[in-house]
Amino acid sequence: MPHPGGEYNAPRDAFDLYTPRFVKGKGVDKMGLCPICIEPPERGGEGKKVWLAMKFSAFNYHMQYHHGISASTGRPLSPPIDFRVVTRPSPRKAERAKVKQGKCHKCRSWIAVETVKDIDVKVKELFWWKHAVACHGASVLVGGVFEEDDVYEVLRKAHEDTA
Ligand SMILES: [Zn+2]
Ligand SMILES: [Zn+2]
Repeated sequence: MPHPGGEYNAPRDAFDLYTPRFVKGKGVDKMGLCPICIEPPERGGEGKKVWLAMKFSAFNYHMQYHHGISASTGRPLSPPIDFRVVTRPSPRKAERAKVKQGKCHKCRSWIAVETVKDIDVKVKELFWWKHAVACHGASVLVGGVFEEDDVYEVLRKAHEDTA
């Protein structure tokens, strides 16, 4: 892969999916390269250079609400621990009669995970991610977000040694 430009920026650790690996510009003009979009499609990315302003939340918004990566942990936002569908008492026209909810591991509340409007949305997980960002903080459901191959094992051991 050719150098994307900018300067190298160290992540918190090898499992940090949030921190840009490359940054450019200074102060209010500082931009970060999305570390996920730059990956090729076969690795879950889009093969695209996406530079986002670090100030005024553009980078933060993209990482949390386009990719579901927590700014506070650098890990994927934890999914609901359960789902249910509830019937809405008096839906208006063009609204759903039933709405899907997800249960939060942290606050134990049932959170609507879709809009009540009967429309298709671009990022389906957005409702859940908004709740997770506001609620979870440093709390992450244990395990299962990384592919646990040989590379993972090497990195995990190195991480344990420094932690
Ligand atoms: Zn991205
Ligand atoms: Zn919660």
